[in-house]
Amino acid sequence: MRSQPILAVGSIALDTIHTASERHTDILGGSATFFAVSAASLAQVRLVGVVGDDYPEEGWRLFRDKGVDVSDVQQVAGRTFRWGGEYSKDFSTRETLFTELGVFEDFEPKINAANRDTPIVYLGNIQPSLQLAVCNRVSDQSRIISDTMNLWIDNNRAELTEVIRRSHIFLINDEEAEEFTGISDPEAGASALLEQGPEIVIIKQGGKGALLATSNGRRHIPVYPDVQVLDPTGAGDSFAGGLLCYLSVHGEGSLLDAVINAAATASFTVEGVGLDGLLKADVGSIRKRADVITALMD
Ligand code: AMP
Repeated sequence: MRSQPILAVGSIALDTIHTASERHTDILGGSATFFAVSAASLAQVRLVGVVGDDYPEEGWRLFRDKGVDVSDVQQVAGRTFRWGGEYSKDFSTRETLFTELGVFEDFEPKINAANRDTPIVYLGNIQPSLQLAVCNRVSDQSRIISDTMNLWIDNNRAELTEVIRRSHIFLINDEEAEEFTGISDPEAGASALLEQGPEIVIIKQGGKGALLATSNGRRHIPVYPDVQVLDPTGAGDSFAGGLLCYLSVHGEGSLLDAVINAAATASFTVEGVGLDGLLKADVGSIRKRADVITALMD
């Protein structure tokens, strides 16, 4: 079955990661990178973003190997976006050590004429104003799927609300959903988010799974069991990649299976540092984990 292409914007980053057992500096990361690598397993990904002149060849090679279209990734003078995060011992909390926007400060997304009518558009975690700029440059027919983080809830709430209004599917984690809605119960929080405009809301609950909410009801999707977590960075973005590549092949009639594919994909990401875990996954191994998750739901 042929898949529909996906256009994705987000950060292309060099990450610094501190966990109880690991310390890494300037490794490949960013919301768009995790998304692209995971979605590329089933779909053609057209990436929109910016990197500095310090961006390593290793990153370009990765995108080439995965068949990612980088014709809308600009390389400009300056420093690539950098982010540092430190996890608590049990990975239940994460503190941002620093966020260095670098070339993102003056970034204006450009989209080739050939890419503007891409049917599926993913607005990964990045300033809501940039998400909206991409929204405004693609066809009205495109399905918009978006994600965000606490920084934008705190600092750019009005623009973020507009992003949510224009999204068909909105993804958010449980803490951020509570911060945005003021509601701690995920089911009630999902209802409040659905009222903002999206047809589908997915609340990611870390080790507790995910809640899928539509006007037809609610489903809880468990995590793949007994995963040894090494670094959760990028779990949310690879969840989105696993979701959208599945939808790009099977359509929205397969929404529940797509969320299961998302959970299976993210389970690989957390098993390695940076992209290492995700890069060990392939369509077959993701399928096997998806089958285990499906069996847990019966
Ligand atoms: P996740 O663990 O799914 O929340 O995604 C982590 C990724 O998001 C890291 O690779 C970071 O580079 C990226 N990231 C963190 N903060 C920001 C930000 N303010 N804007 C864009 N990307 C970010």
